[in-house]
Amino acid sequence: MDRRNFFRVLSATSAGIAGGCGKKSDKLIPLLVPEHDILPGEEQWHPAACDGCGAGCGTLVRIMEGSRTIERSGERLFERIACIKKIEGNPLDPVSGGRLCARGQAVVQSLYHPDRLRGPMKRSGARGKGQFVAASWDESITWAAEKIRAANPTRIVFLTGSGASLRSLSIRRFLQALGSPAPVVCSLADFAVELAAAEMVFGWKGLPVYDLAHAQHVLGVGADFLGGWASPVYYARQAGHFRQGREAVRGQLVHAESRLSITAATADQWLPLRPGSEPQFLAAVGRILLDSGLAKNREQLPKSVAAVFQSADLAAMLAQCGLEASRVHRVVEKFGASEAPLVIAGASVVHSNSLDAVMASHYVNLMLGNVGRKGGVLPPPPAAIEAPENRGATQALSSAELVFIDGANPAYTMPRASGMLDALARAGTVISFASFLNDSGAWSDLLLPDHLALETETAIVPAVSPQPAVTVAVPFIQPLYDTRAVEQTLTDLARKMGLPYEAVTAKDIVQSMLSGEITYDHAVRQGGLWLDSKSGPAARVGTGALELRAAAFAGDADQYPLQFQPYLSLQFHDGRASNLPWMQELPDPASSSIWGLPVEIDPRIAARLRIANGDMVRVESPHGSLEAPAYVHPGAVPNVVSMAIGDGHTHYGRYASGRGANPLSILAPGWEKCTGALLTGGTRVRLARTGGPRSLIQFSAQDRQERSFDHR
Ligand code: SF4
Repeated sequence: MDRRNFFRVLSATSAGIAGGCGKKSDKLIPLLVPEHDILPGEEQWHPAACDGCGAGCGTLVRIMEGSRTIERSGERLFERIACIKKIEGNPLDPVSGGRLCARGQAVVQSLYHPDRLRGPMKRSGARGKGQFVAASWDESITWAAEKIRAANPTRIVFLTGSGASLRSLSIRRFLQALGSPAPVVCSLADFAVELAAAEMVFGWKGLPVYDLAHAQHVLGVGADFLGGWASPVYYARQAGHFRQGREAVRGQLVHAESRLSITAATADQWLPLRPGSEPQFLAAVGRILLDSGLAKNREQLPKSVAAVFQSADLAAMLAQCGLEASRVHRVVEKFGASEAPLVIAGASVVHSNSLDAVMASHYVNLMLGNVGRKGGVLPPPPAAIEAPENRGATQALSSAELVFIDGANPAYTMPRASGMLDALARAGTVISFASFLNDSGAWSDLLLPDHLALETETAIVPAVSPQPAVTVAVPFIQPLYDTRAVEQTLTDLARKMGLPYEAVTAKDIVQSMLSGEITYDHAVRQGGLWLDSKSGPAARVGTGALELRAAAFAGDADQYPLQFQPYLSLQFHDGRASNLPWMQELPDPASSSIWGLPVEIDPRIAARLRIANGDMVRVESPHGSLEAPAYVHPGAVPNVVSMAIGDGHTHYGRYASGRGANPLSILAPGWEKCTGALLTGGTRVRLARTGGPRSLIQFSAQDRQERSFDHR
């Protein structure tokens, strides 16, 4: 939807609501659309927020008259409801800009999903079996309050997703009222390494904003920014402008990554790196720029950092990357000579040295003089709320008496060898707020299902935003089932226990950003508050430090000769969207497979092991094994085995439970030292063919096999 249409539908909707209500302005907000306001055949549009990942895209939701059958006192009744038909991007939102990714569009399928939990449930079988019986809210709140009272408050652990939001603030306040430790982020997509690097090099709090739209020559390193990294819709829109939005300039993109990701496939040139060699590659880039006099801003580099780049052994570094020196020289010299060069680096796959890589990328941007400049790397704007930062989930759980889980699924996202399942089994009480019975819910004693995001009030600080922003939504449809927003459940628990807990609202958060004529109502009507000020904090580059460590891999190289890299998938992200049929039916961008994810294998390895496309293979690490169909990927880097994350749930409804294999399950339990991020790329594996073709459904298998790549 474009801005003009947005204003047309929004003004029609707002006028209708204002006319029907007639109270003072802060009551005019469409808190709920009364069913009698929905006219047959007429649509209404309401702003909302997507919680499909931490990007926090603003959305617009189309609602029309619908109906459902309900049972009341044994009688089947036909009920007229406001029904969500479609979700679009909100054109006023600087993140989504009127666009959404496929997962954002599919949120509507979560809402009407047949496997949604319809009310509280308490465990009836052994932990992990996923057997529950229905319970009332009164009974559940009383039970949970007793368990919380009985637990040592310092041993209460609240596992959450990433990001700053109304939810994260409510949880933090609830834990403060209990006297418990801060919530623990348990997420594959919290970009902890990128956050730490920005703080260590520039003193910035939050993810930097890469001004891709105004850059002329971009060097991407290890960040699949058009795939699952940071804020895919925002960067996809920026990439559109970078390529086609300027008359005289077509941006050039060179991408260095150990997988042919969506970004690599879109680039003008792909440099297939060996896994974990990103710091060495960036050291080589810095050295070439310094040697060739293209580092225009070299005097800004801290001396110690300049010395690291200058002493980098170019030949040795590029040999570690597996790249031809002459090619890298050509690429870097052209890049450095550009009027607006920009390095976008990240850790789509996390290695033990990923922090070195992202820090090195910041120093390369610094020597190019693009920090804080148009077309360069910009500071994150000030945020209305701070995001949770504690990431020691396994450590926190080792002595947990009571565990809350919201926005996280540790039983799926943590390696089997991490001991996560044992920790959940050992914990005195586990309470899950998930809207579906998922892998971690199955290990819980009590399920207190949350509303879906479209049914509740929310305020989200986007992970990446060019200006101070908060995406806001208030409910506009009745919740379908007997669920409760987590914020409400925490308030109920606090009341039951007599805790000094002050509930927060979206209004509290937005009000801290208001100035001038803008009101909270205004923010609600447009779906968020976006301030014009673009002035984030200036970079404070300290005396500087840079290390170029080699990546560590678990597993003996003779026994486990291949490097394994699970990655966030476009369709399933960290596995949370696997229960949606639309996402299962979306062809995987690498293999074009649907209803199942394969293991991506280099053709040479496949030939040596006599593995054909679709054959079943066993992928074995020192910490476990999985079986999945093989996809012989013509673009796979030699000796690297990749697999998208999403399959292999033990419990996640009828469409995802028991389907395929979970690549995270066989990882070594290793964490990046500074941030606690799971090392998704730090495990060696071996492969064996276990059977003939089975269960790999590809949308366009033939097309993909005919392509050739020059890196082998
Ligand atoms: S990028 Fe994330 S927040 Fe934005 S539409 Fe996609 S899933 Fe939703």
